[in-house]
Amino acid sequence: MQYDADVIIAGAGPSGTIAAFKLARQGVDVLILEKAEFPRYKVCGGGLTHKILQEIQSDIDSVIEREIFSIRFSCNFTDSFTRTATEPLIYCTMRDKLDQLLLRNAVEAGSRVMFGEHISGIIQVHSGIDIKTHRGSWKSLYLIGADGASSVVAKATGLWKNIMPGMAWEAEMEAAPEDIKRLSQTVFLDWGTIPGGYGWIFPKKNHFSVGIGGPASLSKQLKTYGEKFIRSSGIRFLGTQTMKAWPIPVKTKKGPFHSGRTLIAGDAAGLTDPMTGEGIYYAVKSGRHAAKAIFDQLQGDPNGLIRYTDEINSDLMPDLMEAEQIKAVFNAVPLFIHRKVKERDRVWRAFWKILRGERNYLDVKRGFGMWRFLWGTTCWVAKRYHFLRTGLRR
Ligand SMILES: Cc1cc2nc3c(=O)[nH]c(=O)nc-3n(C[C@H](O)[C@H](O)[C@H](O)COP(=O)(O)OP(=O)(O)OC[C@H]3O[C@@H](n4cnc5c(N)ncnc54)[C@H](O)[C@@H]3O)c2cc1C
Repeated sequence: MQYDADVIIAGAGPSGTIAAFKLARQGVDVLILEKAEFPRYKVCGGGLTHKILQEIQSDIDSVIEREIFSIRFSCNFTDSFTRTATEPLIYCTMRDKLDQLLLRNAVEAGSRVMFGEHISGIIQVHSGIDIKTHRGSWKSLYLIGADGASSVVAKATGLWKNIMPGMAWEAEMEAAPEDIKRLSQTVFLDWGTIPGGYGWIFPKKNHFSVGIGGPASLSKQLKTYGEKFIRSSGIRFLGTQTMKAWPIPVKTKKGPFHSGRTLIAGDAAGLTDPMTGEGIYYAVKSGRHAAKAIFDQLQGDPNGLIRYTDEINSDLMPDLMEAEQIKAVFNAVPLFIHRKVKERDRVWRAFWKILRGERNYLDVKRGFGMWRFLWGTTCWVAKRYHFLRTGLRR
Protein backbone atom coordinates (compact mmCIF):
# COMPACT_ATOMS: atom_id res chain seq x y z
CA MET A 1 0.00 0.00 0.00
CA GLN A 2 1.32 3.46 -0.95
CA TYR A 3 0.52 6.02 1.76
CA ASP A 4 -0.29 9.70 1.28
CA ALA A 5 0.68 10.30 4.93
CA ASP A 6 1.45 8.31 8.08
CA VAL A 7 -1.53 9.93 9.77
CA ILE A 8 -4.58 11.51 8.16
CA ILE A 9 -6.74 13.74 10.31
CA ALA A 10 -10.36 14.27 9.30
CA GLY A 11 -11.29 17.87 10.15
CA ALA A 12 -9.38 21.01 11.13
CA GLY A 13 -11.32 21.96 14.26
CA PRO A 14 -9.48 22.15 17.61
CA SER A 15 -9.33 18.37 18.14
CA GLY A 16 -7.79 17.81 14.71
CA THR A 17 -5.33 20.68 14.71
CA ILE A 18 -4.07 20.04 18.25
CA ALA A 19 -3.41 16.39 17.31
CA ALA A 20 -1.77 17.49 14.05
CA PHE A 21 0.43 20.02 15.83
CA LYS A 22 1.66 17.49 18.40
CA LEU A 23 2.34 14.76 15.86
CA ALA A 24 4.04 17.01 13.31
CA ARG A 25 6.26 18.52 15.97
CA GLN A 26 7.53 15.02 16.69
CA GLY A 27 8.38 14.51 13.03
CA VAL A 28 5.30 12.50 12.00
CA ASP A 29 4.02 12.95 8.44
CA VAL A 30 0.49 14.39 8.95
CA LEU A 31 -2.16 15.36 6.42
CA ILE A 32 -5.38 17.14 7.46
CA LEU A 33 -8.39 16.71 5.16
CA GLU A 34 -10.91 19.51 5.74
CA LYS A 35 -14.17 19.91 3.87
CA ALA A 36 -14.39 23.72 4.28
CA GLU A 37 -12.09 26.53 3.16
CA PHE A 38 -10.40 28.32 6.07
CA PRO A 39 -11.02 30.63 7.80
CA ARG A 40 -14.61 29.42 8.12
CA TYR A 41 -17.49 30.45 10.38
CA LYS A 42 -18.31 27.84 13.03
CA VAL A 43 -21.62 27.92 14.88
CA CYS A 44 -20.22 28.19 18.41
CA GLY A 45 -20.23 30.55 21.39
CA GLY A 46 -16.44 30.58 21.28
CA GLY A 47 -16.27 30.66 25.09
CA LEU A 48 -13.10 29.11 26.48
CA THR A 49 -13.15 28.22 30.16
CA HIS A 50 -9.94 29.09 31.97
CA LYS A 51 -8.90 25.45 32.29
CA ILE A 52 -8.19 25.23 28.58
CA LEU A 53 -5.13 27.47 28.82
CA GLN A 54 -2.98 24.74 30.39
CA GLU A 55 -4.08 22.27 27.71
CA ILE A 56 -3.75 24.31 24.55
CA GLN A 57 0.00 24.91 25.07
CA SER A 58 0.29 27.75 22.58
CA ASP A 59 -0.18 31.48 22.71
CA ILE A 60 -3.79 32.31 21.87
CA ASP A 61 -3.81 35.86 23.30
CA SER A 62 -4.21 37.38 19.84
CA VAL A 63 -7.63 35.74 19.36
CA ILE A 64 -9.04 36.39 22.83
CA GLU A 65 -11.54 39.22 22.36
CA ARG A 66 -12.84 39.49 25.93
CA GLU A 67 -11.99 38.21 29.41
CA ILE A 68 -15.02 37.47 31.55
CA PHE A 69 -15.11 38.08 35.29
CA SER A 70 -18.87 38.42 35.85
CA ILE A 71 -21.93 36.30 35.15
CA ARG A 72 -25.42 37.78 35.12
CA PHE A 73 -27.72 34.93 36.05
CA SER A 74 -31.46 34.79 35.49
CA CYS A 75 -33.95 31.97 35.95
CA ASN A 76 -36.72 31.92 33.38
CA PHE A 77 -35.88 35.60 32.67
CA THR A 78 -36.57 36.63 36.28
CA ASP A 79 -34.70 37.02 39.56
CA SER A 80 -31.54 38.26 37.83
CA PHE A 81 -28.34 39.00 39.71
CA THR A 82 -24.66 39.37 38.84
CA ARG A 83 -21.81 37.49 40.48
CA THR A 84 -18.21 38.60 39.96
CA ALA A 85 -14.98 36.65 40.38
CA THR A 86 -11.56 38.08 41.12
CA GLU A 87 -9.96 36.05 38.32
CA PRO A 88 -11.03 35.44 34.70
CA LEU A 89 -13.64 32.72 34.26
CA ILE A 90 -14.11 32.57 30.51
CA TYR A 91 -12.22 33.90 27.49
CA CYS A 92 -14.33 34.89 24.48
CA THR A 93 -13.05 34.12 21.00
CA MET A 94 -14.47 33.85 17.51
CA ARG A 95 -14.01 30.35 16.18
CA ASP A 96 -12.95 31.39 12.68
CA LYS A 97 -9.96 33.16 14.22
CA LEU A 98 -9.17 30.58 16.92
CA ASP A 99 -9.35 27.66 14.50
CA GLN A 100 -7.28 29.50 11.90
CA LEU A 101 -4.60 30.15 14.51
CA LEU A 102 -4.52 26.53 15.68
CA LEU A 103 -4.36 25.35 12.07
CA ARG A 104 -1.50 27.74 11.33
CA ASN A 105 0.40 26.33 14.31
CA ALA A 106 -0.12 22.80 13.00
CA VAL A 107 1.06 23.77 9.51
CA GLU A 108 4.09 25.61 10.88
CA ALA A 109 4.95 22.46 12.82
CA GLY A 110 4.99 20.54 9.51
CA SER A 111 1.43 19.28 8.90
CA ARG A 112 -0.06 19.50 5.43
CA VAL A 113 -3.69 20.49 4.89
CA MET A 114 -6.07 20.00 1.97
CA PHE A 115 -9.23 22.12 1.96
CA GLY A 116 -12.43 21.19 0.12
CA GLU A 117 -11.89 17.47 0.89
CA HIS A 118 -15.23 16.20 2.14
CA ILE A 119 -14.76 12.70 3.55
CA SER A 120 -17.63 10.44 2.55
CA GLY A 121 -16.43 7.04 3.78
CA ILE A 122 -13.50 4.95 4.94
CA ILE A 123 -12.34 1.38 4.44
CA GLN A 124 -9.99 -0.10 6.99
CA VAL A 125 -7.70 -2.89 5.83
CA HIS A 126 -4.99 -4.71 7.75
CA SER A 127 -2.17 -2.47 6.50
CA GLY A 128 -3.90 0.91 6.58
CA ILE A 129 -6.94 3.00 5.79
CA ASP A 130 -8.49 4.05 2.52
CA ILE A 131 -10.29 7.38 2.89
CA LYS A 132 -12.82 8.43 0.27
CA THR A 133 -13.61 12.07 -0.33
CA HIS A 134 -15.93 13.69 -2.85
CA ARG A 135 -12.85 14.34 -5.01
CA GLY A 136 -10.80 11.18 -4.71
CA SER A 137 -9.19 8.85 -2.25
CA TRP A 138 -6.33 9.00 0.27
CA LYS A 139 -4.38 6.36 2.14
CA SER A 140 -2.70 6.43 5.53
CA LEU A 141 -1.42 4.16 8.28
CA TYR A 142 -3.64 5.78 10.91
CA LEU A 143 -6.71 8.03 10.92
CA ILE A 144 -8.01 10.47 13.52
CA GLY A 145 -11.70 11.22 13.16
CA ALA A 146 -11.89 14.85 14.27
CA ASP A 147 -14.75 15.65 11.92
CA GLY A 148 -17.14 17.09 14.46
CA ALA A 149 -20.73 16.56 15.50
CA SER A 150 -21.88 14.71 12.36
CA SER A 151 -18.75 12.59 12.16
CA VAL A 152 -18.58 10.36 9.10
CA VAL A 153 -15.56 8.58 10.61
CA ALA A 154 -17.28 7.71 13.91
CA LYS A 155 -20.31 6.37 12.04
CA ALA A 156 -18.25 4.39 9.50
CA THR A 157 -16.22 2.70 12.27
CA GLY A 158 -19.25 1.83 14.44
CA LEU A 159 -18.00 4.11 17.23
CA TRP A 160 -21.04 6.44 17.15
CA LYS A 161 -22.80 4.81 20.11
CA ASN A 162 -24.49 6.01 23.33
CA ILE A 163 -24.71 9.55 21.99
CA MET A 164 -27.44 11.80 23.36
CA PRO A 165 -28.31 14.43 20.75
CA GLY A 166 -28.18 18.00 21.99
CA MET A 167 -28.90 21.06 19.87
CA ALA A 168 -27.78 24.66 20.08
CA TRP A 169 -28.69 27.84 18.23
CA GLU A 170 -26.36 30.77 17.80
CA ALA A 171 -26.54 34.31 16.37
CA GLU A 172 -23.85 36.99 16.07
CA MET A 173 -25.61 40.24 17.03
CA GLU A 174 -24.45 43.80 16.61
CA ALA A 175 -25.37 46.13 19.48
CA ALA A 176 -25.11 49.71 20.67
CA PRO A 177 -21.39 50.49 21.33
CA GLU A 178 -22.18 51.66 24.90
CA ASP A 179 -23.68 48.23 25.69
CA ILE A 180 -20.70 46.44 24.20
CA LYS A 181 -18.38 48.52 26.37
CA ARG A 182 -20.51 48.26 29.52
CA LEU A 183 -20.86 44.49 29.30
CA SER A 184 -17.38 43.70 28.01
CA GLN A 185 -16.56 41.50 31.03
CA THR A 186 -20.02 40.01 31.62
CA VAL A 187 -21.67 36.88 30.33
CA PHE A 188 -25.48 36.57 30.52
CA LEU A 189 -26.79 33.17 31.54
CA ASP A 190 -30.48 32.28 31.69
CA TRP A 191 -31.47 28.82 32.92
CA GLY A 192 -34.53 26.99 34.20
CA THR A 193 -36.66 28.29 31.29
CA ILE A 194 -36.63 25.22 29.08
CA PRO A 195 -36.14 21.74 30.57
CA GLY A 196 -32.48 20.77 30.19
CA GLY A 197 -31.60 23.96 28.31
CA TYR A 198 -30.05 27.36 28.91
CA GLY A 199 -29.20 30.58 27.11
CA TRP A 200 -26.00 32.64 27.01
CA ILE A 201 -24.78 35.96 25.70
CA PHE A 202 -21.02 36.31 25.24
CA PRO A 203 -19.51 39.74 24.58
CA LYS A 204 -17.08 39.85 21.66
CA LYS A 205 -14.89 42.69 20.42
CA ASN A 206 -17.60 44.43 18.37
CA HIS A 207 -20.75 42.40 18.92
CA PHE A 208 -22.43 39.74 21.11
CA SER A 209 -22.75 36.02 20.44
CA VAL A 210 -26.19 34.91 21.60
CA GLY A 211 -26.96 31.23 21.97
CA ILE A 212 -29.39 28.67 23.34
CA GLY A 213 -28.70 25.01 23.97
CA GLY A 214 -30.81 22.06 25.06
CA PRO A 215 -32.22 18.68 24.09
CA ALA A 216 -32.47 18.17 20.31
CA SER A 217 -36.11 17.09 20.75
CA LEU A 218 -36.91 20.68 21.85
CA SER A 219 -35.10 22.31 18.95
CA LYS A 220 -38.03 24.48 17.78
CA GLN A 221 -38.81 25.68 21.30
CA LEU A 222 -35.13 26.49 21.75
CA LYS A 223 -35.25 28.89 18.82
CA THR A 224 -38.32 30.69 20.21
CA TYR A 225 -36.63 30.78 23.62
CA GLY A 226 -33.56 32.37 21.95
CA GLU A 227 -35.66 35.10 20.38
CA LYS A 228 -37.34 35.85 23.72
CA PHE A 229 -33.96 35.83 25.46
CA ILE A 230 -32.67 38.44 23.00
CA ARG A 231 -35.70 40.67 23.64
CA SER A 232 -35.58 40.29 27.42
CA SER A 233 -31.84 40.90 27.88
CA GLY A 234 -32.14 44.68 27.90
CA ILE A 235 -29.21 44.92 25.48
CA ARG A 236 -29.83 47.33 22.60
CA PHE A 237 -29.20 45.00 19.68
CA LEU A 238 -28.98 46.61 16.24
CA GLY A 239 -30.89 44.90 13.45
CA THR A 240 -31.86 41.25 13.43
CA GLN A 241 -29.79 38.16 12.86
CA THR A 242 -30.85 34.66 11.93
CA MET A 243 -30.08 32.04 14.53
CA LYS A 244 -28.23 29.01 13.18
CA ALA A 245 -28.54 25.54 14.68
CA TRP A 246 -25.85 22.93 15.16
CA PRO A 247 -25.87 19.61 17.03
CA ILE A 248 -24.02 18.99 20.28
CA PRO A 249 -23.39 15.25 20.75
CA VAL A 250 -23.04 14.03 24.33
CA LYS A 251 -21.48 10.65 25.07
CA THR A 252 -23.43 9.05 27.90
CA LYS A 253 -21.30 5.94 28.54
CA LYS A 254 -17.66 5.01 28.36
CA GLY A 255 -16.28 4.19 24.91
CA PRO A 256 -14.36 2.38 22.84
CA PHE A 257 -12.87 5.43 21.14
CA HIS A 258 -10.76 3.48 18.67
CA SER A 259 -11.40 0.82 16.09
CA GLY A 260 -8.69 -0.85 14.05
CA ARG A 261 -6.31 1.93 13.01
CA THR A 262 -8.76 4.75 13.67
CA LEU A 263 -9.30 7.01 16.70
CA ILE A 264 -12.09 9.51 17.24
CA ALA A 265 -11.69 12.78 19.17
CA GLY A 266 -13.67 15.87 20.18
CA ASP A 267 -17.28 16.12 19.03
CA ALA A 268 -16.80 13.07 16.80
CA ALA A 269 -16.41 11.12 20.05
CA GLY A 270 -19.29 12.97 21.76
CA LEU A 271 -16.90 14.55 24.27
CA THR A 272 -18.96 17.53 25.38
CA ASP A 273 -20.10 18.65 28.80
CA PRO A 274 -23.80 17.70 29.15
CA MET A 275 -24.29 20.49 31.68
CA THR A 276 -22.91 23.41 29.64
CA GLY A 277 -22.33 22.15 26.09
CA GLU A 278 -18.66 23.06 26.42
CA GLY A 279 -16.65 21.05 23.91
CA ILE A 280 -13.49 22.92 22.92
CA TYR A 281 -11.64 21.91 26.09
CA TYR A 282 -12.51 18.23 25.54
CA ALA A 283 -11.61 18.51 21.84
CA VAL A 284 -8.17 19.83 22.78
CA LYS A 285 -7.66 17.23 25.50
CA SER A 286 -8.71 14.30 23.36
CA GLY A 287 -6.67 15.65 20.41
CA ARG A 288 -3.59 15.60 22.62
CA HIS A 289 -4.28 12.08 23.85
CA ALA A 290 -4.89 10.92 20.27
CA ALA A 291 -1.56 12.30 19.10
CA LYS A 292 0.30 10.58 21.91
CA ALA A 293 -1.43 7.26 21.24
CA ILE A 294 -0.59 7.30 17.54
CA PHE A 295 2.97 8.44 18.16
CA ASP A 296 3.48 5.52 20.58
CA GLN A 297 1.98 3.12 18.07
CA LEU A 298 4.28 4.42 15.32
CA GLN A 299 7.21 3.87 17.71
CA GLY A 300 6.27 0.19 17.85
CA ASP A 301 4.02 0.09 20.91
CA PRO A 302 1.16 -2.24 19.88
CA ASN A 303 -1.15 -0.94 22.64
CA GLY A 304 -1.07 2.80 21.89
CA LEU A 305 -4.60 2.93 20.47
CA ILE A 306 -6.05 0.70 23.19
CA ARG A 307 -4.50 3.02 25.75
CA TYR A 308 -6.23 5.96 24.06
CA THR A 309 -9.62 4.44 24.82
CA ASP A 310 -8.48 3.71 28.38
CA GLU A 311 -7.23 7.27 28.87
CA ILE A 312 -10.42 8.91 27.58
CA ASN A 313 -12.45 6.53 29.74
CA SER A 314 -10.44 7.33 32.85
CA ASP A 315 -9.42 10.95 32.28
CA LEU A 316 -12.55 12.53 30.73
CA MET A 317 -15.58 10.24 30.92
CA PRO A 318 -16.02 9.99 34.72
CA ASP A 319 -16.31 13.77 35.06
CA LEU A 320 -18.57 14.10 32.01
CA MET A 321 -20.82 11.34 33.35
CA GLU A 322 -20.94 13.07 36.74
CA ALA A 323 -21.95 16.30 34.96
CA GLU A 324 -24.93 14.36 33.64
CA GLN A 325 -25.93 13.49 37.22
CA ILE A 326 -25.59 17.09 38.38
CA LYS A 327 -27.62 18.21 35.40
CA ALA A 328 -30.40 15.83 36.46
CA VAL A 329 -30.56 17.49 39.88
CA PHE A 330 -30.47 20.95 38.29
CA ASN A 331 -33.28 20.04 35.87
CA ALA A 332 -35.48 18.99 38.79
CA VAL A 333 -34.97 22.10 40.93
CA PRO A 334 -33.52 24.92 38.79
CA LEU A 335 -34.91 27.79 40.87
CA PHE A 336 -33.57 26.27 44.10
CA ILE A 337 -30.05 26.04 42.62
CA HIS A 338 -30.35 29.50 41.06
CA ARG A 339 -31.12 30.93 44.52
CA LYS A 340 -28.23 29.02 46.10
CA VAL A 341 -25.80 30.57 43.57
CA LYS A 342 -27.30 33.95 44.43
CA GLU A 343 -27.30 33.61 48.21
CA ARG A 344 -24.46 31.28 49.08
CA ASP A 345 -20.89 32.38 48.41
CA ARG A 346 -19.78 28.77 48.77
CA VAL A 347 -22.02 27.63 45.90
CA TRP A 348 -20.92 30.54 43.69
CA ARG A 349 -17.27 29.76 44.44
CA ALA A 350 -17.80 26.10 43.50
CA PHE A 351 -19.29 27.25 40.17
CA TRP A 352 -16.40 29.64 39.63
CA LYS A 353 -13.76 27.00 40.51
CA ILE A 354 -15.31 24.51 38.09
CA LEU A 355 -15.10 27.07 35.26
CA ARG A 356 -11.48 27.72 36.20
CA GLY A 357 -10.71 24.00 36.19
CA GLU A 358 -9.61 24.14 39.82
CA ARG A 359 -12.44 21.80 40.75
CA ASN A 360 -14.43 19.35 38.68
CA TYR A 361 -17.86 17.76 38.81
CA LEU A 362 -16.55 14.77 40.72
CA ASP A 363 -15.41 17.17 43.45
CA VAL A 364 -19.02 18.30 43.85
CA LYS A 365 -19.98 14.74 44.68
CA ARG A 366 -16.95 14.36 46.98
CA GLY A 367 -18.09 17.55 48.74
CA PHE A 368 -21.01 15.58 50.19
CA GLY A 369 -18.47 13.66 52.30
CA MET A 370 -20.04 10.82 54.23
CA TRP A 371 -23.46 11.66 52.70
CA ARG A 372 -22.07 10.80 49.28
CA PHE A 373 -23.93 7.48 49.23
CA LEU A 374 -27.18 9.47 49.08
CA TRP A 375 -26.03 11.33 45.96
CA GLY A 376 -26.80 8.45 43.56
CA THR A 377 -30.31 8.12 45.00
CA THR A 378 -30.86 11.90 44.81
CA CYS A 379 -29.84 11.88 41.12
CA TRP A 380 -32.10 8.93 40.40
CA VAL A 381 -35.08 10.62 42.07
CA ALA A 382 -34.28 13.89 40.23
CA LYS A 383 -34.21 12.08 36.87
CA ARG A 384 -37.57 10.38 37.56
CA TYR A 385 -39.11 13.67 38.66
CA HIS A 386 -37.77 15.46 35.54
CA PHE A 387 -39.14 12.67 33.33
CA LEU A 388 -42.59 12.72 34.94
CA ARG A 389 -42.77 16.51 34.68
CA THR A 390 -41.46 16.96 31.12
CA GLY A 391 -41.47 13.55 29.41
CA LEU A 392 -37.74 14.02 28.78
CA ARG A 393 -35.28 11.34 29.84
CA ARG A 394 -32.39 13.83 30.19
C1 LIG B 1 -24.19 26.82 19.17
C2 LIG B 1 -23.00 26.18 19.84
C3 LIG B 1 -22.30 26.90 20.79
C4 LIG B 1 -21.17 26.33 21.39
N1 LIG B 1 -20.47 27.08 22.27
C5 LIG B 1 -19.35 26.58 22.85
C6 LIG B 1 -18.57 27.36 23.72
O1 LIG B 1 -18.87 28.53 23.96
N2 LIG B 1 -17.48 26.79 24.29
C7 LIG B 1 -17.11 25.49 24.03
O2 LIG B 1 -16.11 25.02 24.58
N3 LIG B 1 -17.82 24.73 23.18
C8 LIG B 1 -18.91 25.24 22.56
N4 LIG B 1 -19.62 24.47 21.67
C9 LIG B 1 -19.12 23.13 21.32
C10 LIG B 1 -17.91 23.26 20.36
O3 LIG B 1 -18.28 24.03 19.25
C11 LIG B 1 -17.43 21.89 19.89
O4 LIG B 1 -17.40 21.00 20.98
C12 LIG B 1 -16.05 21.96 19.28
O5 LIG B 1 -16.08 22.73 18.10
C13 LIG B 1 -15.54 20.56 18.93
O6 LIG B 1 -14.32 20.65 18.23
P1 LIG B 1 -13.94 19.53 17.17
O7 LIG B 1 -12.56 19.84 16.70
O8 LIG B 1 -14.17 18.18 17.74
O9 LIG B 1 -15.01 19.69 15.99
P2 LIG B 1 -15.33 20.96 15.07
O10 LIG B 1 -14.88 22.19 15.71
O11 LIG B 1 -16.76 20.83 14.69
O12 LIG B 1 -14.41 20.72 13.81
C14 LIG B 1 -14.69 19.69 12.89
C15 LIG B 1 -14.08 20.08 11.55
O13 LIG B 1 -14.25 18.97 10.67
C16 LIG B 1 -14.71 19.42 9.42
N5 LIG B 1 -15.49 18.33 8.85
C17 LIG B 1 -16.72 17.91 9.24
N6 LIG B 1 -17.11 16.86 8.51
C18 LIG B 1 -16.11 16.62 7.64
C19 LIG B 1 -15.94 15.65 6.60
N7 LIG B 1 -16.88 14.74 6.33
N8 LIG B 1 -14.78 15.68 5.88
C20 LIG B 1 -13.81 16.62 6.15
N9 LIG B 1 -13.94 17.56 7.10
C21 LIG B 1 -15.06 17.54 7.85
C22 LIG B 1 -15.53 20.66 9.74
O14 LIG B 1 -15.62 21.53 8.62
C23 LIG B 1 -14.75 21.27 10.90
O15 LIG B 1 -13.79 22.19 10.47
C24 LIG B 1 -20.75 25.01 21.05
C25 LIG B 1 -21.47 24.28 20.11
C26 LIG B 1 -22.59 24.86 19.50
C27 LIG B 1 -23.34 24.06 18.47
